[in-house]
Amino acid sequence: MFDKFINNFKKGDIDFNCESCGNCCREKGFVEVSDSEIKDIAKYLAVIRTHFIKKHINEVRDKLCFNEHPEEPCKFLKDNSCNIYPVRPKQCRTFPYWRSIARNDDRIKEMLRYCEGIKIEWLKKEEI
Ligand code: SF4
Ligand code: SF4
Repeated sequence: MFDKFINNFKKGDIDFNCESCGNCCREKGFVEVSDSEIKDIAKYLAVIRTHFIKKHINEVRDKLCFNEHPEEPCKFLKDNSCNIYPVRPKQCRTFPYWRSIARNDDRIKEMLRYCEGIKIEWLKKEEI
């Protein structure tokens, strides 16, 4: 059953619903952000783009990222909600359908540990 779930996930063949647990925003790692996303976020927060960049953006391996500590929750997670939700970066909008997850069985299993939406989907399938 677990292999079937993994294969279905790889094919994008799951009915995933986000349960808004915020756990993906607390996982280790960087949040990449593009120039146009920075522009949209700064506009949404009503701050000057250059000030936003200075305060919140770092370059990590040639990518622009929020300058959080990778061991800490995302700096935009407030009271378990994303405070830039309508303009959150693509990386956040596309989770958990990342190629880096889909091609790695261990990462799929790891995601089952923290993503409540995926966990519910897995449990639903397990009951069949
Ligand atoms: S930007 Fe929002 S959705 Fe993305 S990791 Fe941060 S809090 Fe979560
Ligand atoms: S971990 Fe999964 S269910 Fe929780 S907020 Fe992130 S995508 Fe939604």
